[in-house]
Parts: sequence; structure tokens; C-alpha cells
Amino acid sequence: MQIQERVPLAPKTTMRIGGCARYYAELSRQSDVEIAWKFAQEKGVPMIALGSGSNTVFADGTIDALVVRVVANGIDVSGNIVRAEAGAPLATVITQLAKRGLDFSALTGIPGTVGGAIFGNAGQGPQGTWLDHYVQTVSAFVEGEWKIFSRKECDFRYRDSVFKRLLNPLLWKVTLTVPSRPAQAIEREITMLLKKRAVAQPFTRTAGSCFKAFNGTPAWKIIDAAGLKGLTIGDLQVSEKHANFLVNKERATFADVRALIKTIRERTNQPLELEMRLIEESGSLLS
Ligand SMILES: Cc1cc2nc3c(=O)[nH]c(=O)nc-3n(C[C@H](O)[C@H](O)[C@H](O)COP(=O)(O)OP(=O)(O)OC[C@H]3O[C@@H](n4cnc5c(N)ncnc54)[C@H](O)[C@@H]3O)c2cc1C
Repeated sequence: MQIQERVPLAPKTTMRIGGCARYYAELSRQSDVEIAWKFAQEKGVPMIALGSGSNTVFADGTIDALVVRVVANGIDVSGNIVRAEAGAPLATVITQLAKRGLDFSALTGIPGTVGGAIFGNAGQGPQGTWLDHYVQTVSAFVEGEWKIFSRKECDFRYRDSVFKRLLNPLLWKVTLTVPSRPAQAIEREITMLLKKRAVAQPFTRTAGSCFKAFNGTPAWKIIDAAGLKGLTIGDLQVSEKHANFLVNKERATFADVRALIKTIRERTNQPLELEMRLIEESGSLLS
């Protein structure tokens, strides 16, 4: 494993905003995690995990942290039990399992890695199926120690898990139970869900939902009702297609992201909670 300095982060996120990581490493073995963590401790910086950056926006300067990406992406199947490493793309897991007649299709169309999906309990919406539905255990490195979390200990809720409340945990592997279903039926479901998304959501330079649902009402409904679709600050726009998606038209900055979020909160008059992860230069999270 190599620890690099001043690595640009924008290309590692789907929104394409952000400056550099002071330190950056890709982790392919469990021992890499331990080495990286010791390095971060010695340098006195936080170790921040990044998946495929489909829910993350970094500040424009230097992020004073060791940003690490799990690249271990193995998928192991035994009957209905699936073990997937955190770096595996969710889409790859879904299609590989479909071929074996295992139905993980409810998560179709959600970009990102297994690690990111566990962290935020990814799913189809407040009333849909979420990842936690399938989880048995999660293996993670937390404050210098490996730990296996049972499903109960993960404390999954809507777009939430215990991992959001721990200090910079590193998720390594998940064990899932996935139900059987004929492969053709799963593949039809995947195609249908992908078509639905293509109609409803933008796919370029966005980090997905900006805000969580508020008191059960989807955030897009609240933003749409306030007439904010298309609102633009700097080079960042509230998508015309989906009011809860912010789209980087080309050169949007972190300042544009902050300003647009502030304006949406003011104009909807709601304390909307962020779903996107906004990382400041200090490595801390903007809320
Ligand atoms: C077009 C589009 C559509 C989307 N639709 C949905 C949707 O329907 N439902 C939904 O839930 N989300 C959706 N999202 C948001 C996003 O895809 C999910 O949140 C996804 O699970 C993030 O995965 P990631 O690997 O990209 O995570 P990142 O953005 O890289 O990281 C997100 C968070 O997870 C943490 N994390 C990632 N990997 C690890 C790890 N190995 N260990 C510890 N922490 C880790 C990061 O520290 C960060 O805080 C959408 C995004 C886009 C761009």
C-alpha cells in the first residue's frame, strides 16, 4: 500500500467538486487498514473512508486528513449467504447475485460501493426496501480495533446506522442473507427499476439526494412545492428533473453547495437534514 500526498478528490466523487486530500491511500488488505490508521494517528489527522463518492462532496481546499478507499471487492456466495467486501460496487453485487438466482434487486440503481451502502443504509426511499433488510453482520475497524457488528448492533434506521455515530469507522465486509428467486424474474425487475430511475433522476455530476425525507414527506416534494426546481447559485442547480438532486453544471464550488443548501432551507422554511456528506477542510462534517 502506498500513501500519497495532495491527491485531487473531485475526480473520485460523482459531483466532481473538491480540492485535494493531504494524504490518500487505497486499501486492499486488512493489514493496510491497520497501517493506514497508525499513519493517521502519527500525523494527527483523521482517517476518512471514501467509497465511490456518490454521496460525498469535499471542500475546495486541502482536506487535512488521510482519505482512504477500500478497493477490496470480493464477493463470496454460499447458498443464500453472501459475503461482500466494502469496495465491491453495489451494482456488481446485484447483477452477480441475479445470475445465481439471488434477489438483491431492491437496491438497483443506487450508485456506490457496499461500504457506502452499509454506512448510510442505502435504499429506495423512506417506504422502500433498505440494505439492512439483508444484513447479518458487518466487519469494521473502529478506533484501532477490528469488530464484528450484529445487525442489531448496526442500529440501522432510515438512511442511518451506528457507523454514522462512531469516530471514523472503516467498514470492511458484510455478510448478507439474500432470498432466492428465478434469475429471469430478477433480471426483469432490475431492468424495470433502471428504466424508472432514468426517467425520474439526473445521473451526471450529482451526489444523489441532498436532504433526507422530513417527517415522512420526501424532501423533493417540499422543495418542489416551494418552486425551487431550477434554482441556480454559481454553477450549481436544483435539478429540473428531481428537486432533491443538486447538479454541478460544470464549475460549481463547495461555496455554491453551502449557499444553495442555505437558500433551500430558508425558502422552504424547514430544518431539512442533510443526506449528502459534506466534508470540510478540517475533515469534519458540515450539517
Ligand atoms: C444518481 C444518484 C442516485 C442515488 N440514489 C440513491 C437511492 O435511491 N438511495 C440511496 O440510499 N442513495 C442514493 N444515492 C446516494 C449514494 O449512491 C448512496 O448513499 C451510496 O450508498 C453511497 O455509496 P458510495 O460508495 O458512493 O459512498 P461515498 O459517497 O463514497 O461515501 C458516503 C459515506 O459513506 C462512508 N463510507 C463509504 N465507504 C465506507 C467504508 N468502507 N467504511 C466506512 N465508511 C464508508 C463515507 O465516509 C461517507 O460518509 C444516489 C446517488 C446518486 C448520484
